[in-house]
Amino acid sequence: MGFFSTTKSIGILGGGQLGKMLLTTTRQWDIHTQVMDPSKEAPSRIGCNRFVQGDLMDYQQVYDFGKEVNILTIEIENVNTDALAALEKEGVQVYPQATVIKTIQNKCRQKEFYLQNNIPTAPFQLFQSKDALKDAVARGLVSFPFVWKSESMGYDGYGVKIIRSNQDLETVNEGSCMAEDLVAIDKEIGVIVCRSVSGETVSYPSVEMEFHPTANQVEYVLSPARIPSRIEQNAQEVARKVSEAYQHVGLLAVELFLTKEGEIWVNEVAPRPHNSGHYSIESSYTSQFEQHIRALLDLPLGNTENKVSGVMVNLVGAAGHQGPVHYKNMEHILAIEGVCPHIYGKKETRPFRKMGHITIVNKSLETARQIAEQVKETIEVISK
Ligand code: ADP
Repeated sequence: MGFFSTTKSIGILGGGQLGKMLLTTTRQWDIHTQVMDPSKEAPSRIGCNRFVQGDLMDYQQVYDFGKEVNILTIEIENVNTDALAALEKEGVQVYPQATVIKTIQNKCRQKEFYLQNNIPTAPFQLFQSKDALKDAVARGLVSFPFVWKSESMGYDGYGVKIIRSNQDLETVNEGSCMAEDLVAIDKEIGVIVCRSVSGETVSYPSVEMEFHPTANQVEYVLSPARIPSRIEQNAQEVARKVSEAYQHVGLLAVELFLTKEGEIWVNEVAPRPHNSGHYSIESSYTSQFEQHIRALLDLPLGNTENKVSGVMVNLVGAAGHQGPVHYKNMEHILAIEGVCPHIYGKKETRPFRKMGHITIVNKSLETARQIAEQVKETIEVISK
């Protein structure tokens, strides 16, 4: 194996909070790591053995970084996959594999993949340009309301808009896109699946995501999801099928819609640690971060069950505040039982920027959810 207390190293493309939390496990196990990120202030800069400032979309920089490591992984999908494919050919173990990242990077390609693999997902139509979509609307081939999704670079809802009129349609960006049926959603749930190099697969119990009404960001993640066992079983089956289709190595966070009709449809996936799995640090026997490292090193995968219920609150920058960050009322929330804050270490706050998260653990999910609301009302991420 050779990664424990040696100079064999794991490279991580992206040095944000997900990388920082992965590094908790590599530190615990004394595994050598190298991180590349465009920002020299990246949260992961302090937890790795070597930090490289570089452009993740640049072929040469990704390639040069990859040549220095034994295993290469990601904490963000927007990376140069041609460089990853070249590295794979030259014997670097790239997990998730370049082809998996390439399919997932592009929302349109991802949807086609589900169609080809017989995976339930909302009906959609693809368009090469905004004009082509407008033309289809004019000809009655797409009708309001629908969901416009840009092919690439969308995150936290920025590349997604509900279109109810021609006026709305004017506001979307140019470029390849899809028109997806507007789903009548009962709940948004997520299942994290992990697959090791030799194909051992485990999955975490479903979590339930509650969205902020205006920011379109996840506000609370509840573990376990409050759904009947037959729905849980269905969600697990669908997530496992998605994992099987991708044949990925490492984590795969599968975002699902539970429709009002009780069906489970795949929205999208992320082949990396995910916000919906942060609760696992405190609630699960094995955190998603440790699980990812186990999978990459082809070690036995860990128990995914909860030790305790958990509710995660994203700690985002308050509206109207921009500049050096100040976390107000930390001492008050820490006085409440089961409150576990994580501060990512970003120097500047901006409205709705993810600055940290707080997991509330409790034997009772309902109590944890109530405390989460109290925490949310108490803590403030502001600029002084
Ligand atoms: P992102 O990659 O930016 O997170 P998503 O595709 O996950 O974008 O969409 C963001 C959110 O928009 C979803 O979590 C869901 O609340 C809503 N949404 C996305 N697609 C649909 C749809 N087809 N019908 C209804 N709501 C949707």
